[in-house]
Amino acid sequence: MGLLVVGSLGLDTVATPFDKIENALGGSATYISLAASYFSGPIRLVGIVGSDFPKEYIEMLNNHNIDLEGLQIVEGGKTFRWSGKYHYDLNVRDTLFTELNVFEKFDPIIPENARKSKFICLGNIDPVLQAKVLDQMENPQFVVCDTMNYWIEGKKKELLDLLPRVNVLIINDSEARLLAHEPNLIKAAKIIRAMGPQILIIKKGEHGALLFSEETIFSAPAYPMESIYDPTGAGDSFAGGFTGYLFKTRDLSTESLKRAVIYGSTMASFCVEKFSTKGLEELSYLQIQDRFRQFMNLSRFDED
Ligand code: AMP
Repeated sequence: MGLLVVGSLGLDTVATPFDKIENALGGSATYISLAASYFSGPIRLVGIVGSDFPKEYIEMLNNHNIDLEGLQIVEGGKTFRWSGKYHYDLNVRDTLFTELNVFEKFDPIIPENARKSKFICLGNIDPVLQAKVLDQMENPQFVVCDTMNYWIEGKKKELLDLLPRVNVLIINDSEARLLAHEPNLIKAAKIIRAMGPQILIIKKGEHGALLFSEETIFSAPAYPMESIYDPTGAGDSFAGGFTGYLFKTRDLSTESLKRAVIYGSTMASFCVEKFSTKGLEELSYLQIQDRFRQFMNLSRFDED
């Protein structure tokens, strides 16, 4: 059945204070799928590109056990393009342009085989499209959803209609404050969980992530990194690692959710070490396990 991933695939032009890259592989579904692919497969990716989308990217995704039956390739169409510029504080990013291109008419069609998937990760796209995906699923059991300030501001009603249908919402701290109209994150989490999702994850960039559920509040550290090369896709890689681990284990207990947050943070840390998706292309499960253990040691201490 596999893990269903829906979102954008695109060509990113990214500038950091250290370097610049043009038309590199990007998109929320790309990062989610690659990060999840190290845990279990197949990953069933649903998205859209134009005929200008380089064949080597298709090959690379295929080589990671990512099934592209649900990828629509529009003949003569132009792939989604996005450009971002990072400040010296890499937590601050300006979007320079967003060209929707073929994405403008995206109507996600879930292939017959993938409709049976029980685990679903909805990358950051219009909440109307995210709902359309769920409408086609036979019996979804665990739905993870990402969104952003653009939809919180522009499609609030549609997002609020969607939230009761998702099990986990993953957003960053400023998005949580915006969605809840509440500056305090603990209060904001209560407000957002009352909107529908049983579990809320709030990412705090280089300060880690918080998981809120009925039973617990879990605070995960961020990996202390000396060289962050390109933060693009960190949030999506987090979602991919988180969902991929849970899809592999099928264990939704509180302890497993905590481990999933650490695997999410682990995949995000690999993502930002290189430009574009390069940091996620040639990993081994051993490397992932090794960094997971380093995370454990980061906040382990004795009572006395
Ligand atoms: P992140 O750094 O996790 O926020 O994700 C960045 C990725 O999201 C980039 O690779 C972009 O191609 C993609 N992206 C940026 N804006 C949008 C948008 N409005 N809709 C869908 N994907 C987007």
